[in-house]
Amino acid sequence: MNTSLTPNAAIEAAVSSEVELDYAASCELPTPWATFRLHAFVEPATGKEHVAITLGDVADGEPVLARIHSECLTGDGLFSLRCDCGPQLEAALQKIAEEGRGALFYLRQEGRGIGLVNKIRAYQLQDAGADTVEANEALGFKPDQRNYKLCQPMLRHLQISTLRLMTNNPRKIKAMEQLGVKVVERVPLVITRNPFNERYLTTKAAKLGHLF
Ligand SMILES: [Zn+2]
Repeated sequence: MNTSLTPNAAIEAAVSSEVELDYAASCELPTPWATFRLHAFVEPATGKEHVAITLGDVADGEPVLARIHSECLTGDGLFSLRCDCGPQLEAALQKIAEEGRGALFYLRQEGRGIGLVNKIRAYQLQDAGADTVEANEALGFKPDQRNYKLCQPMLRHLQISTLRLMTNNPRKIKAMEQLGVKVVERVPLVITRNPFNERYLTTKAAKLGHLF
């Protein structure tokens, strides 16, 4: 962090590095819990496609119950017990459905930003004894490469400025505040431990500051 930056310069730097996303289309998304709206966005710089899932009127100015979820094919779609992504995604959509209002931002930054193949390489190292942070570092990546700025154009498009954020990760709250998005409440997500995710969850708490 460059401490010589004045607050205004820091804000300018954050704005100038803003991620550009183009809104593409919206449709209905029926699920076991509610029929949501699914909104598609394209990142022109990378061609990556991201989605936001909303329920109810999120543009009325009231704080929005929200989840920022980064893609995890193994956890979200393949039932992996190595991480807590699938249960967190499901719990967040259920909570939004229970309240009848909220938003979930599904960011296509697989494996904390390193991509699917590299995540599987990291899992291979973990099978041989490394923890999740050590494995990423052994592959030459930072422990967490995710960029939450992707949310900014989606939030703007959906006219959301204040969140009740469902997260166990204080970095996400900090990232939102740096983007000028107010987080009025942290809503914890309670996750079930199993023999396969025990070490992963412990490492996330110890090395990445997650709160469980
Ligand atoms: Zn995962």
